[in-house]
Amino acid sequence: MSIELPEAAILAGQMNQHLRGKRINSWHLEDLAKLQKSKMVRADLEAFDRLVGSSIESVVSRGNTIRVKLNGEYNLIISPEYGGEILYHEKKTDRAMKIHLNLEFEDGTVLTIRLKGWGAIYPLTDHELEKMYTYARDFSDTMSPDDPAFTRDSFTEILSKYTKNIKMALVGKDAIIVGIQNSAFQDIIYRAGIHPKRRASDLDSNEANGLFDAIVALITERKAKGGKDQFIDLYGKQGEYVPVMGPNMKDENCPRCGGSIEKLAHGGGHVYICSSCQKADAKT
Ligand SMILES: [Zn+2]
Repeated sequence: MSIELPEAAILAGQMNQHLRGKRINSWHLEDLAKLQKSKMVRADLEAFDRLVGSSIESVVSRGNTIRVKLNGEYNLIISPEYGGEILYHEKKTDRAMKIHLNLEFEDGTVLTIRLKGWGAIYPLTDHELEKMYTYARDFSDTMSPDDPAFTRDSFTEILSKYTKNIKMALVGKDAIIVGIQNSAFQDIIYRAGIHPKRRASDLDSNEANGLFDAIVALITERKAKGGKDQFIDLYGKQGEYVPVMGPNMKDENCPRCGGSIEKLAHGGGHVYICSSCQKADAKT
């Protein structure tokens, strides 16, 4: 499963609490050929050498991206876009464990990262950060649903001027908010009763307000429940949030109206919807 805003925020919060001040002693990458083929790691591996001897100053997230800030203007950017496990270990890990990056700290504790789909692990200087796609997308001026700037007025105002469909408004590089991918998207538009093919600027004010409420509710609930149900946090604890709409609802009936759930091909992926609760035409 993808790591979206709630999961990235949970991981960054735990890492900030537990890893701050730790000094990196060594790094080790596995499955390197696969990572390099998909540009999931920096091509010049010497960049990882600069991690050694650096201490972790803070860990923050924005959108789906995690920034591990090290001393000396250096960073480790972790983007587990399409899934990943970032785990903390009290001691060296079992060598049979599947990982991509293993970081050993001076005190003998270990952080392991395994990407489970496309994603990226990039050590970067402060000056190089903006060159990385996921960092530039997420640590940007685009609103984040957990920022104070994300208000009902600011969201509905921008939405009313967005002339592409609602999926493009919420997901991807042209979205008006960061942190949402296909999973959260399906959940949000079902809660708001909006069809994915609707044009954002065509939503009436009730619908736009409903969409704002659905985004806030989803982010809040997913964080409170420790992330989505297939997510594993820094300590290996599984999340408990079960999506209200998505692939888990295949062959189920709509909990609201009892109608059947449909799978639509849309926006380069699939979206599960209830076509009774989520009408393609504007409400009259
Ligand atoms: Zn329904």
